Amino acid sequence: MKIIPMNCTNCGHTVDVDFDNPCTFCAYCGSKLMLDVEAIQNLLIAKEQTKQNANEQETKQKELMQKQKRFALRKKQS
Ligand SMILES: [Zn+2]
Repeated sequence: MKIIPMNCTNCGHTVDVDFDNPCTFCAYCGSKLMLDVEAIQNLLIAKEQTKQNANEQETKQKELMQKQKRFALRKKQS
């Protein structure tokens, strides 16, 4: 089960829609909502990209820390 938040097309409230049950009703105004498959895919892709960016940033930070360590060692040696 995957809950995906989407905005009600009628009242704009955020409604949690079950991925496995994409046809639902807005809890606030009662509008019938249909989970947009394209929107889900975009959301998933965006999430994946965010994850990748985070990983890249982590790698960069680690590299930077290693460089700093090396630099500190060199300083001690000389
Ligand atoms: Zn609504």
